[in-house]
Amino acid sequence: MGHARIETDVAIVGAGGGGAVLALLLAQQGVRSLVVERAVGPPQGLRGEILQPNGQQVLDRLGLLDKLPTHAVRSVQRFNFCRSGGERLCTVDYSDLPAPYNRAVVTLPNVAHHAILDALEKQNPDGLWYDATFTGLRFDGSRVIGLHATRHGEPMEVSARLVVGADGAFSKVRESLGISANLYRYPQSYLIAILKAPPEFNEARYLVGKREILGLFPAAGQQVYAFYMIKAGSYEAVKAQGLDALRRAWIRIDPAMEGIVPGLVDWSQTGYMPTGRVRTDRWVADGALLIGDAAHAMNPHASQGRMQAMVDAVTVADLIPRWLKENDFSAKALRAFEIARRPQVMMLQRLADEQCRFWNTGNPLLAYLRDRVFRTLDRNARLRYRVLSTTAGLRSQPPFSLVDRIMAAGFLPDPNARVTEC
Ligand SMILES: Cc1cc2nc3c(=O)[nH]c(=O)nc-3n(C[C@H](O)[C@H](O)[C@H](O)COP(=O)(O)OP(=O)(O)OC[C@H]3O[C@@H](n4cnc5c(N)ncnc54)[C@H](O)[C@@H]3O)c2cc1C
Repeated sequence: MGHARIETDVAIVGAGGGGAVLALLLAQQGVRSLVVERAVGPPQGLRGEILQPNGQQVLDRLGLLDKLPTHAVRSVQRFNFCRSGGERLCTVDYSDLPAPYNRAVVTLPNVAHHAILDALEKQNPDGLWYDATFTGLRFDGSRVIGLHATRHGEPMEVSARLVVGADGAFSKVRESLGISANLYRYPQSYLIAILKAPPEFNEARYLVGKREILGLFPAAGQQVYAFYMIKAGSYEAVKAQGLDALRRAWIRIDPAMEGIVPGLVDWSQTGYMPTGRVRTDRWVADGALLIGDAAHAMNPHASQGRMQAMVDAVTVADLIPRWLKENDFSAKALRAFEIARRPQVMMLQRLADEQCRFWNTGNPLLAYLRDRVFRTLDRNARLRYRVLSTTAGLRSQPPFSLVDRIMAAGFLPDPNARVTEC
């Protein structure tokens, strides 16, 4: 039996945070596309999701922000950074940002993603194939002209003018392109859980201690997401210590957990999320490009991984009409995407790594400096706004200059501490 052959304009590998948004934008523009996704259906697992303002903008453009089910989303404005034990260090308030995206939107697992996939299904019913695994690229010389995949175990061939690798940190498209990647696995990962919260739990809390982090985010349905930093690969070891040990650790870090941890009764309420960073020296080739984690996975401290995958998708969708019109999908033409996106992505990767160094630390001097910076930020509206607008995805420049860093550490007064730069 011969291979099934399909022809399209844009073939996308992976229907994750980046690939699904790109497919929907292309469908809305009337550009032919096909997504191959190896999973058998939309993701169902537990995952914490915070839509930062730049992600809200993308969803708004897709026409979906207002359509997210109200019972599954919660707006959060105030984020309190505290020391382990509960002492408040700094409060960041999203209502300082320009309206209407002046909040963080916490959604129940996969809610935004399912809304995107549902809209794609309506707009382009045959545009997403599940149980379809990318197996390799097709080349004409050095130019990519499509891909090989298996669908329901059967081999198939796709011809495309552009192949987009949106297949995550361990990207096979990247590998097939011969793009070497520096894939770093952080020594810390996260245990996440979703639990019932008391009625007064309306503000996010982020507690940092000695090699300890516990993030608590209010979620819809009077619930709370807990993000707890654990050693990479230690989920089974944490489980072996028992739920009671975990409950006690959380209460020690945040005494307010006393009212929440009784709701943690089974490990099925928890999940494990490894963390990694991807760096590559190019994201484009003749006829192909990489978006999202395939190009630039980053530490979750940035709270931007999925948002950046979505913004990549928007950037590609905006450039597509020109590439199609000129019929030019050479690496030289596709570079416009990389030039537009690299500055923000690299800045966020560096910032997240710096946050790892200070926030995750067990070193008392670094912890002292960290707490000092949080306390300065609490008093300094200018620097606080810089940090907030960066996490919100609204800046491409680093939040602090060298002088700002010295001021943030409290070693130099800031004459403009009360001035915000909206
Ligand atoms: C603990 C933790 C917390 C996080 N918190 C946040 C946050 O608060 N905000 C935020 O913005 N981001 C966050 N992220 C990051 C975010 O989850 C990722 O950056 C985002 O999912 C990347 O999207 P993507 O489309 O590039 O890749 P993915 O979402 O990983 O999608 C890749 C897709 O490709 C498919 N695939 C892979 N290989 C193949 C193949 N061979 N054939 C076909 N399909 C294939 C996969 O099945 C998957 O569906 C967090 C990550 C972690 C670990």
